[in-house]
Amino acid sequence: PIPVEPHGTVGARQVHTALLLCNDVSQWRRLEQMRSDFVANVSHELKTPITAIQGFAETLLDSEHDAETEKEFLQVIHDESVRMKNLVSDLLTLTRLENGSSTDAFHEVNLADVVSESVQVIERMATAAGIQIDNQLQEGSITVWGHDEQLKQVLLNLLTNAIHYTPTGGVITVFAESYVDRVKVHVSDTGIGIPKEDQDRVFERFYRVDRDRSRATGGTGLGLAIVKHIVQTHGGELGVDSQLGMGSDFWFTISRLRGLHADL
Ligand code: ADP
Repeated sequence: PIPVEPHGTVGARQVHTALLLCNDVSQWRRLEQMRSDFVANVSHELKTPITAIQGFAETLLDSEHDAETEKEFLQVIHDESVRMKNLVSDLLTLTRLENGSSTDAFHEVNLADVVSESVQVIERMATAAGIQIDNQLQEGSITVWGHDEQLKQVLLNLLTNAIHYTPTGGVITVFAESYVDRVKVHVSDTGIGIPKEDQDRVFERFYRVDRDRSRATGGTGLGLAIVKHIVQTHGGELGVDSQLGMGSDFWFTISRLRGLHADL
C-alpha cells in the first residue's frame, strides 16, 4: 500500500516511489521471463541430440545390423555428440562473457594480425567447402583497443557462418573501413543471404532463419549472440546488410587506438 499524506492526498514523493517500485517489478518480471525462456530453449536444444543418441544407441544394442548400417548409426551418434559439445561450449562462452566481461584486460591489438590468425584457423574448412577467402587486411597496421582472443572469436564466428551459408564456388571477403576514431570491419559473403524481416533478429540467442540448415551445419544458434556480446563490450556497433540469394555483409565497429603505432 502507498502511504497516504496526512491531509488525505497522495503526495508526489509517494507517487514517485510507487512508480519506481512498479518499474522494478516489471523489470524483474521481464528478466525472469527472459531467464525462463532461455532455460526452455537450452533444454529443447539439448533434448534433440540426446533423443537421437539414445534412439540410435538403443537400436544398435537391440538387434544385429550389418557393418555398414552400424557405421551409419555410429556416425549419427558421433555428430549429435559434437553438436551437444558445441552447444555446451557456446553456452559456457556466453556465461563467461556475461559474468566477467570487463574492459580491464583490454590492450593494444593489431587488427590485421587478429584477422589473419582467424583466417588461418578457418582456411582448411573453407577449402574443403570450395570457398575462397579474400583477406584484404593482410598488410594493414590498424591498431585497436580490445581483447585479442575475444576479437578472434568474433571473426571466427562470422567466418564460420559465412562458410556455412555460402554454396561451393563462393567468395568471402574480409575488409575494413578506417575512420578517425574507429574501424568498421566487414565479413562479406556471396552466400544465400538473409530475408529483410530476419536481419535484425539473427543476433538473438537461438534465432535461426532456417532451422534445418542450421542443424545440418552443426550450428548452435548462439554464434551471433556471442559476436553481439563481445562487440558491445568493446563499445562497438554491429549489423548485417544482406540480399536474399545474393550474399550477406556482416560488419562491426571497434575503437581505434591513435598514437605512436597507429597509421593516422
Ligand atoms: P547458427 O549456429 O544457427 O549459425 P548463429 O547465431 O551463428 O547461429 O546465426 C543465426 C542465424 O543467422 C543462422 O541460423 C542463419 O539463419 C543466419 N546467418 C548467420 N550468418 C549468416 C550468413 N553469413 N548468411 C546467411 N545467413 C546467416
